[in-house]
Amino acid sequence: MIYASIQYKNREQLCCIDVVGERVFLLADFFKEEPVDKTATVSMISFINIYKDEWTDNIAYFFGSQPELAIPLSEVNLSAPIPTPARNIVCLGKNYEAHAQELKGHIFSDKPPLHPIYFTKPDHTVIGTEELILPHKAITKKLDYEVELALIIGKEGIDIPKEEAEDYIFGYTIANDISARDLQQDHTQWYKGKSLITHCPMGPWIVHKSILPLPLSLEIKSYVNGELRQHGNISDLIFDIPTIISDLSRGYPLRPGDIILTGTPAGVGMGFDPPKFLKSGDEIVCQIQGIGTLINQVG
Ligand code: MG
Repeated sequence: MIYASIQYKNREQLCCIDVVGERVFLLADFFKEEPVDKTATVSMISFINIYKDEWTDNIAYFFGSQPELAIPLSEVNLSAPIPTPARNIVCLGKNYEAHAQELKGHIFSDKPPLHPIYFTKPDHTVIGTEELILPHKAITKKLDYEVELALIIGKEGIDIPKEEAEDYIFGYTIANDISARDLQQDHTQWYKGKSLITHCPMGPWIVHKSILPLPLSLEIKSYVNGELRQHGNISDLIFDIPTIISDLSRGYPLRPGDIILTGTPAGVGMGFDPPKFLKSGDEIVCQIQGIGTLINQVG
């Protein structure tokens, strides 16, 4: 099942999407017949919080038997799947070997990481597909893109063993970890350079984990103005998904709706000679096989 946050009839609503049929079904219709607290079904985070495993099949059956409830996908606007995360988005740096090599001497040392490198992005960075990335020209001249697989956590957990990691995932989406390279370097610590408003496009929706069982082997790509820039595979992660969840959750509680960006493959703008930084009007297309396409333009 694929879940999305949409703007429809002038308000934020939750839906599931039939990508092939380009149809949308409002989850409010499903919840009319489910004995749940209706106030818990208004946001993606509250939906994930109360999600029951049996809904994976029940929702498909409910809408499969009532095709008259469908809305054409073209009639809704997709928001970011979680438009306002409850906590900072946790991100990994240097998690693909080829990317670590291309930024050697710029952002990274030449030593392979012994442990995952974490940093975070705040809630105000999040925008959805088709929304504008602000260039912040007054403070950065080195704007860069990074396509990444984003994990959406499904239930609370701490000290999670690798073997149980998949139980704690709700699903997957695509993120573009927009980075102001000059701010990253000037401030040494990456937080400011990764945290400008609109600098975490995410979407277009969440693919539930039941569709993409671990281990994942999915192509991941980015294009700028139609030119292929990044092309990797999720199977090339240095720290794989169970390792990330297990390592991060040691002494650190994960909560439903938490978002983890798993790192970016080689081909970012800073890795080219000369560098290919983003400019106003550029269109960045991020794609992950089996998930979808996230499209944003620099304003
Ligand atoms: Mg990144």
